[in-house]
Amino acid sequence: MDQKLEGVYDAVVARNPGEAEFHQAVREVLESLGPVIDRHPEYLEMKMLERICEPERQIIFRVPWMDDKGEVHINRGFRVEFNSALGPYKGGLRFHPSVYLGVIKFLGFEQIFKNSLTGLPIGGGKGGSDFDPRGKSDSEVMRFCQSFMTELYRHLGEYTDVPAGDIGVGGREIGYMFGQYKRITNRYESGVLTGKGIAWGGSLVRTEATGYGTVVFANEMLKTRGESIDGKKVMVSGSGNVAIYAMEKVRQLGGLPIGFSDSSGYVVDEAGVDLDLLKQIKEIERGRVSDYAERRESASFSDRGSIWDVPVDVALPCATQNELNGEQAATLVKNGVKAVAEGANMPTTPEGIHVFQQAGVLYGPGKAANAGGVATSALEMQQNASRDSWTFEYTEERLTDIMVNIHDQVATTAESYGAPGDYVMGANIHGFEKVANAIQAFGL
Ligand code: GLU
Repeated sequence: MDQKLEGVYDAVVARNPGEAEFHQAVREVLESLGPVIDRHPEYLEMKMLERICEPERQIIFRVPWMDDKGEVHINRGFRVEFNSALGPYKGGLRFHPSVYLGVIKFLGFEQIFKNSLTGLPIGGGKGGSDFDPRGKSDSEVMRFCQSFMTELYRHLGEYTDVPAGDIGVGGREIGYMFGQYKRITNRYESGVLTGKGIAWGGSLVRTEATGYGTVVFANEMLKTRGESIDGKKVMVSGSGNVAIYAMEKVRQLGGLPIGFSDSSGYVVDEAGVDLDLLKQIKEIERGRVSDYAERRESASFSDRGSIWDVPVDVALPCATQNELNGEQAATLVKNGVKAVAEGANMPTTPEGIHVFQQAGVLYGPGKAANAGGVATSALEMQQNASRDSWTFEYTEERLTDIMVNIHDQVATTAESYGAPGDYVMGANIHGFEKVANAIQAFGL
């Protein structure tokens, strides 16, 4: 990394001790920005990088709730309003026991550049809680969501901050939180949350958007080498919303999804994943991936080794951060992987990214490849603002155009900075430049 940028990075680490994921995300962006600083030395004078690395506002709050046995629990809630240069803070809420300030800050930081890449008017933010929804009853989840929103509502607004889902937060949770917002404020403010149900202000395609968009992005990368998803064997980690709809789009484009995972292990189904069965287990029964293998002869479940040991043409990490390390990347490369596109946020470790790039594998970082989710959230905001609702076909067409556009702009930026095919550099620079220009325009 450029020495001046190294200094910025060291200062960020010193200022945010113990937040390893945040440091990792910052480092990855700063490593790309050397050539930008050479072209725009004024950014250093204006402390543009320090400004982008410091959240505009960080909110930490207490979330008390009662379980079904009458026992009281206290969780911690977060909302990091990272950057509003391009629009209202926008980004999901994550409910997972691994959540702490460092995770929310890494996600919020990524979100700034991702949202910028969509070309839509949305700033970057992220929130969540260390609450673990797994094993909780429906009424426990409802009470938690209501308590969470009882504090968070005062910080939100369709022109201020617009959360959505992320890991552990889907349609059910958004419903409980939207209900509480409406109850407290006496406003039917549809634009305050995205990922809503279709009957009450949600957008068609929002559920599918992140997964669909990731596969469109992978397909665009493959096209630059005269190939496509058609006929490719694809491995998708995770089994949530992103993974399921990534597999659906792979099938629509003629590829074969052959496996998925959860925190207990992974399933390989060489006959091709039966998406109806997987949706039944995950979306309706809220079960585990091993249930799938028990019900399908061609599938096997394993809790040993790694999902990335299986030879495939395309890998789509759609589970969580740092789920694909250098060794696993080397195995994928040895087995002939052609493209990797990230449906999750920062799922590949820095070592893993290095391995893919050295081997010349097409590698699409999450902030570009998974931007379809938040882009469709922005389309939901558009529909809410105009009191309208669009068809599935029209909304998907908009999503596809956005993803193709992100791909092309990222590729063009990489090329113009002398790094053709480097999607990491292209995404970081292109995302950064727009935010920096807006910050500059607004003055100090
Ligand atoms: N959580 C998603 C992401 O990581 C979506 C955020 C949103 O729709 O606001 O981009």
